[in-house]
Amino acid sequence: MNLPSGTEGSTESSGAGDPSYVPAGDLAQARALLDAPGAVPLGGGTDLVPSIRERLVRPRALVDLARISDLRGIAWREDGSALIGAATTLAAIASDGRMRTAFPAVVRACELVGSPALRNMGTLGGNLCQRPRCWYFRQRLPCHKHGGSHCYAYHGENEHHAILGGGPCFIVHPSDTAVALMALGATLHVTGQRTGERAIAIEDFFVLPARRIDSENVLTDGEAIRAVELPALSSGKRQAFDKVTQRGAWDFAVVSVAWARRTDGSVRLVLGGVAPIPWRVTTSIEEDVASGTLGEDDVDTLAERALHDARPLAKNGYKVDLAGALLRRAIVDLNSP
Ligand SMILES: Cc1cc2nc3c(=O)[nH]c(=O)nc-3n(C[C@H](O)[C@H](O)[C@H](O)COP(=O)(O)OP(=O)(O)OC[C@H]3O[C@@H](n4cnc5c(N)ncnc54)[C@H](O)[C@@H]3O)c2cc1C
Repeated sequence: MNLPSGTEGSTESSGAGDPSYVPAGDLAQARALLDAPGAVPLGGGTDLVPSIRERLVRPRALVDLARISDLRGIAWREDGSALIGAATTLAAIASDGRMRTAFPAVVRACELVGSPALRNMGTLGGNLCQRPRCWYFRQRLPCHKHGGSHCYAYHGENEHHAILGGGPCFIVHPSDTAVALMALGATLHVTGQRTGERAIAIEDFFVLPARRIDSENVLTDGEAIRAVELPALSSGKRQAFDKVTQRGAWDFAVVSVAWARRTDGSVRLVLGGVAPIPWRVTTSIEEDVASGTLGEDDVDTLAERALHDARPLAKNGYKVDLAGALLRRAIVDLNSP
């Protein structure tokens, strides 16, 4: 069977070797289908389908999650926490009135993803699990991620690569929603035929290349994200997501920031576009930000401390300045009444 159409780029079949397309009717069926060797979850297909055409990945079957009603929509608990189905589109999240009031940082991150077409097709699960945009990886050069022993970006065109947490590979994580969700302390509910149900704190979901090179997260074969839980503790107006892009619109973050002051007074601060994972600022810095009134010097010192471990490559030193500026603004906003 051919690839589904309607995603960006050509929809023409590339012929022999195409994966089969299997729509799952319910969660139990999806789990069983995903348990087959080479089967992968399909969200909106906006990253997966082009990746297959570019021969970045070679799955045997695409298990479409879009028809599973349990995976679509947002459920609210009495305590004010929210459970977002993994196949919910970014557009649906961005246009949800209750989400806008309770979790505006997530709404903003969804609004700033790519183009309206991408937001209409793209799902939350797919956005979190999309593959990196490193041009050497996308061009299928034999880098670490393609089984090689070289990072072409390290001595090459590295203006968009990592300044923190890199090595041996220097990708940055491309997902905007991941940055906002980490600032809010989300939990990912993962399901698999063999592994059962797992609840994974978002900090434990993404992995650095030094720990795992073939993937950017801890999912094992056959697993899929079922839902993303947002805690009531993080709901309210004291949160934001902001990003700087090269072209100004329809673009991935060069650097982004998300922050939240939770209802217990604690603070969470996360940077995007700087590391192979969404980069949470050290807890001791978050605690200092949370502790009270800060002068201008304190704000500068905290932002510098947050970037103390930054190791820019030859062409991306500008990211340290940009991340510093976004952090300083976030710290001031966090302490504004
Ligand atoms: C021009 C352009 C600009 C873009 N700009 C941005 C941007 O600014 N910010 C941003 O964040 N993104 C951006 N994107 C990425 C885009 O938003 C993603 O392609 C999209 O969000 C992926 O969602 P999807 O549902 O289409 O995923 P798919 O393409 O269906 O899947 C992507 C990956 O996730 C896996 N997957 C899908 N669903 C699940 C699940 N439930 N559990 C586990 N794995 C799953 C798939 O197997 C695949 O590996 C851009 C993309 C393009 C092409």
